[in-house]
Amino acid sequence: MNVYDGQRIESMLRGRGMMPVADIALADLIVLNTCAVREKASNKVFSELGRIRDRKKPDALFGIVGCVAREEGANAFRRMKELNFVLGPQSYHKLPEILDNPDARLLNVDLSGLEKFDALPPMNDSPAVAYIPIQEGCDHCCTYCIVPYTRGRELSRDTGDVMRDVRAAAESGAVEICFLGQNVNGYKNSLAALITETAKLESVKRIRFTSSYPTEMTDDLIALFGTEPKLLPFLNMPIQSGSPDVLTRMNRPYGLGLYIGIVEKLRAMRPDIQISSDFIVGFPGETDEDFEMTCDIARRIGYINSYSFKYSPRPHTAAALMKDQIPENIKKQRLKILDDILTENNRAFNESCVGLTLPCLVEGPDKTGKHLLARTPWMQQVIVSPSAKQRVEEYKSKRVEHKTILSYSPTLLLSIRITNANKCSLRGEIVKS
Ligand code: SAH
Repeated sequence: MNVYDGQRIESMLRGRGMMPVADIALADLIVLNTCAVREKASNKVFSELGRIRDRKKPDALFGIVGCVAREEGANAFRRMKELNFVLGPQSYHKLPEILDNPDARLLNVDLSGLEKFDALPPMNDSPAVAYIPIQEGCDHCCTYCIVPYTRGRELSRDTGDVMRDVRAAAESGAVEICFLGQNVNGYKNSLAALITETAKLESVKRIRFTSSYPTEMTDDLIALFGTEPKLLPFLNMPIQSGSPDVLTRMNRPYGLGLYIGIVEKLRAMRPDIQISSDFIVGFPGETDEDFEMTCDIARRIGYINSYSFKYSPRPHTAAALMKDQIPENIKKQRLKILDDILTENNRAFNESCVGLTLPCLVEGPDKTGKHLLARTPWMQQVIVSPSAKQRVEEYKSKRVEHKTILSYSPTLLLSIRITNANKCSLRGEIVKS
């Protein structure tokens, strides 16, 4: 979601004749896009703002957008009096107002629903992967989560509006469409229908969506994994914990049986499907036995590409007030144990890919410029061997001037033979384009 917000902000500012610069000291406007999901990310914002203030040109405008802006509101100006703007995740389309009136202090953390989607200018250049939000906010109210406060109630966008964005992205270079929502499969106007419609577009080769809530995984959506070849065999469906007690206290009312049943149905439809999850360890009251259940489910499902976090109490959430908060050292120990299991899952799956030839989406050259970086259908990163040097040159000459925006080229989807694997990534060579 934040990547999408960043792309829209960049595109909007380019429309005003602005260009990205590599060094903050050269910028006329500095926009810090923020996340409030965990305390650490939230705290980092003000230390980062301090660094920006000390390095920026004296007359450069700077401020924050996103969830920390919403969380702090006017208090952000008290914490840093030099800030020029504070705009929430549903009001960053108002950013140009500060350019028109640089002496003002711009504050808007309203939850204005879907207004921003109509107000933002269309994007002319799409990255190879286009993130398309189909809903705002979330109604699930997990007891640990600040999102319902920062991003508001759950609202689904009209299918017509979403398809307009999908077509614009496809026409301007997107090869992969990723539908976004906090509860993306709870989209009120049928996610399955949206995927089927998108798959009809010739230039779209891959479709995925994130993040799914287990109980919203409907049979028509599950069936689509078996019938729609453009839908990638990869699903992010966070379980958060393997303990029924902890899940109840998290206000995630599904049993392990239901969750495992969904995974089995998905695997029956699409035997090569891989599942990823988010996990929270050290939720208030989590016992050793509860944690052991989380480790069991992580091994049993064989999740890949997953994220694990230490529980972090957030304002405006019910869990922050629960008794039996877990000490930091125990959270840390549990995180290490779970991370080792998840890493081992990744290693085993990556190794099982050696020898396969896979259609991979090229993301661009690596830092050295000698290799290409690509993504498999399961989102693993592949480093494509130096024999692809010529491809890198070809690729570079085709990309537009800013390195994060990739111009469309049919060579973006390549057949790559996987030659090596480790716990983090794969190595491969191009078979044919
Ligand atoms: N609906 C989104 C939630 C975004 S937050 C989703 O399902 O992805 C992304 C992840 O951050 C969550 O899945 C959860 O694992 C983690 N998270 C959310 N609140 C947290 C908290 N208070 N402490 C630690 N991790 C948290």
